[in-house]
Amino acid sequence: MDVLLPRTLAEALDVKAAHPDVVPIAGGTDLMVDLNFDRRRPGSLMDISRLPELAVWRREDGHLFLGAGLTYTRIIGDLAAFGPLVDACRTVGSPQIRNRGTVGGNLGTASPAGDALPVLAAYDADVVLISAAGTRILPWGEFLIGPKRSALRPDELVLGARWRIVRGPGSFSKVGPRNAMVIAVASLCLVVDEDRREVRAALGSVGPTILRARAAEQEIARALESAGVWDDPAAAVPREAVERFQSAVAAAARPIDDVRGSAAYRRHACGVLARRALSWALQDRRTAAGAPPAR
Ligand SMILES: Cc1cc2nc3c(=O)[nH]c(=O)nc-3n(C[C@H](O)[C@H](O)[C@H](O)COP(=O)(O)OP(=O)(O)OC[C@H]3O[C@@H](n4cnc5c(N)ncnc54)[C@H](O)[C@@H]3O)c2cc1C
Repeated sequence: MDVLLPRTLAEALDVKAAHPDVVPIAGGTDLMVDLNFDRRRPGSLMDISRLPELAVWRREDGHLFLGAGLTYTRIIGDLAAFGPLVDACRTVGSPQIRNRGTVGGNLGTASPAGDALPVLAAYDADVVLISAAGTRILPWGEFLIGPKRSALRPDELVLGARWRIVRGPGSFSKVGPRNAMVIAVASLCLVVDEDRREVRAALGSVGPTILRARAAEQEIARALESAGVWDDPAAAVPREAVERFQSAVAAAARPIDDVRGSAAYRRHACGVLARRALSWALQDRRTAAGAPPAR
């Protein structure tokens, strides 16, 4: 097997243009598992972990650009202001995996259990793709098209993800048989967008790809409006509204039975994660406004 070591993104894109079957390797934390189990046997690998152009993040025009080559450890260290993203990165694997694994690799694998992916969905991120012919930008839902299937073309690399920076609380949480080193049985990212008065909820590991619970999102935003919570974070949220949100998020899941959990358990877990995430977000809003905790 050949291993190619481009020094710049331009070199890497030239290689991809000439040899689209060359497989990029970033952290190798997914790819090496496939190689070790003989599930993939590519003729050539191209190490993209040293490309400086991929290992960057920047704020631009009220948006965040997150380079595909950023490791989870870098994100945790550099991007503390992005709570749900950092929550998700902290739950990935072990320190060794977080030191090597990248968001680009999570997108490249496109597993419905990829922990960074519900966060990108809740932020409504675009995926930025690049080839020798130029860049192509796809909304996350057009990039992720099925279980371990994406719209990445053979001559392209993932350059990064980009989203509008949202003001408001949020979180990522996941359910699994233990606290660390676990593939999610169900996961949820909740983001509150104060300026647009939206609540967004994205689900992982409970469908063929990442899902947004759009009906639940609209219902809870309306309930918060009629309870006056958008204007007054201390206002009480009716218990029935929270219960309806919990049920509607659970209803948005499209889980299957597999070795990690039954469909019924996964659906239930989504509802529980949704209720908890909503209560954390509402509490964070109260705290930020200097209001006492809800009883
Ligand atoms: C022990 C262990 C625990 C793990 N725990 C978790 C976990 O808790 N949560 C989780 O989400 N994942 C977990 N993973 C999976 C893995 O760590 C993540 O999916 C990680 O994000 C993969 O990134 P990478 O850079 O290592 O990808 P790689 O293995 O290098 O690549 C993965 C795929 O993406 C492609 N690719 C990589 N970068 C690009 C790019 N820029 N453009 C185009 N294609 C690209 C590669 O060709 C390959 O097909 C775990 C893996 C292991 C081995």
